[in-house]
Amino acid sequence: MISQAIAIPRLIVSKHHGFNDLPNALKKHGFNKILLIVGKGIEKLFKDRIDILLYDRELNITGPTILEELDVEKLSPLAYQLESYDVIISMGGGKAIDTGKYISFLRQIPFISVPTSISNDGFASSGASLMVSGQKKSVAAKMPYGVIADLDILFTAPERFYFSGLGDVVSKITACYDWQYEESHGVGHIDHYALLTAKKSVNSVVRLPKPYIHEGLFIKEVVDSLIMSGISMEVAGNSAPASGSEHLISHAMDKLVPGRYLHGVQVGIATYIMSLTQEYRMNRVRTFLTETGFFEHVKALNINRKTMIEAIKLAPGIKPNRITTLHHEKYMNKALNVIEEDEILIDLFAMS
Ligand SMILES: [Zn+2]
Repeated sequence: MISQAIAIPRLIVSKHHGFNDLPNALKKHGFNKILLIVGKGIEKLFKDRIDILLYDRELNITGPTILEELDVEKLSPLAYQLESYDVIISMGGGKAIDTGKYISFLRQIPFISVPTSISNDGFASSGASLMVSGQKKSVAAKMPYGVIADLDILFTAPERFYFSGLGDVVSKITACYDWQYEESHGVGHIDHYALLTAKKSVNSVVRLPKPYIHEGLFIKEVVDSLIMSGISMEVAGNSAPASGSEHLISHAMDKLVPGRYLHGVQVGIATYIMSLTQEYRMNRVRTFLTETGFFEHVKALNINRKTMIEAIKLAPGIKPNRITTLHHEKYMNKALNVIEEDEILIDLFAMS
C-alpha cells in the first residue's frame, strides 16, 4: 500500500495585487509571530507591499531580514539560532526562497513563499537548491504551507525569468513521457494522480491560443502550472513527474557551464530536443516555444553547440539509476542527430 499522507500548500493566492491578501490570510490561518526573510534589493523594490505587513498591528513581524545563504553548512547553525516562529515567509527570487524553505524544514515551522520571479517551480516544491560541499544539489526540504503569487510583482521581473518559467512548464511533456517509458522498462512505478496533475498543469498553458500569450492572464496560468507541478512531485514522492531526460541535460549543463544560463532556459531547449527524440508532441512544443518568443530569446544567448552535445552525452550518467529514453542508445543517437538536422536547432546554437 502507498502512503496517502501528502503535504500540499493550504494557502494559494495567485492574482493581481495578491500580496494585499497576505495579512488577513495570516490571521485566518492562525499565524501571529512571523519571520520575514527577503532577497537582496527586495525591501526597497517592494517597500509599499512590505509596509502593509509591518504596519498591521495584529501581526508580530520580525524583519525584513535579508538572507540568501545557500551553503547547507552555514544554514544549519543559523536555523537553530533563531527563536521560534509561527511561520516563516520568504519574499524574493530562488535564493531567498530556498534559504527560508530549508530553515523552515530544519525547524519544522510552516513556510510561505512569495516569489518575485517565476524562473522555475522551486517556489511551490519541497526541494531546495543548495550548496553541499561546494556543489549545487537538490536537497529535500519542506513543501510550502502557502504560496502568494502577486501577478503585479511578477510582471516587474526581468524577461529572462519569464522565459525560464515557460521552459520549466513545458518540460512536463517530455518528463511524463520518460516516466511512463521508465515504468514500462520495469523501473519505479507511475503514481496516476501525480501523472494526471503534471499533464494537466502543462496542457492548460500550451493550449492557450496565441494572442493570449502576451496578455496578463497568461502569467497566471504559468504560475498555477508551476504550483501544480510542485504538487505532482509531492504526490509522487519523487521528482519524476516534473523531471525527465530534459532535466538531466540541464543538470549536465550546470556542470559544464555552471551558472551561465537559467534553469528553465536550459530545460526548455532540452525539452524541444527530447520531444523530437521521443517523437512525442513535438509540434505542440515547437509551436509553443516559437510563439512565446522562447527560441528567439535562446538564440540571443549564443549557446555553444559543442556544449549542448556534451551535455546530452553526459545526461544519463547524472542519474544512472533512472531509465529515461536518453538512457538507451537508440534515443541517445537520435538526440545527437536532431541537433544536426532540425532547422530550429541548427539556427539556435553558435558553431564555435
Ligand atoms: Zn525544473
